Amino acid sequence: MKYSEYRTRFLGSRNKDQPRQHEMSPTQKDMLFYTQGLISLECLCGREKLKGNALCRQCFKALPDEMQKALYRKLGHGYEEALDDAVKWLQKNRW
Ligand SMILES: [Zn+2]
Repeated sequence: MKYSEYRTRFLGSRNKDQPRQHEMSPTQKDMLFYTQGLISLECLCGREKLKGNALCRQCFKALPDEMQKALYRKLGHGYEEALDDAVKWLQKNRW
């Protein structure tokens, strides 16, 4: 899955009857996906972002403090959950 398709992942999983895509712990494929997102030069909102950052400056700054802090976690140590939370929050409040 491309990083730019990330938003539709959540939009498409609103139906509670459908099985969750993440019943298992993060797979290697997921890790690859999150890594791709970090090295991507495009934020999920379509703006440019810096390599190594999860989101562009605008999206990042819009997040509540604790969500910003959570995004400093390392891959495999809570980063995935932090990004998922951040994307959900941004979808609701910003995008
Ligand atoms: Zn952005």
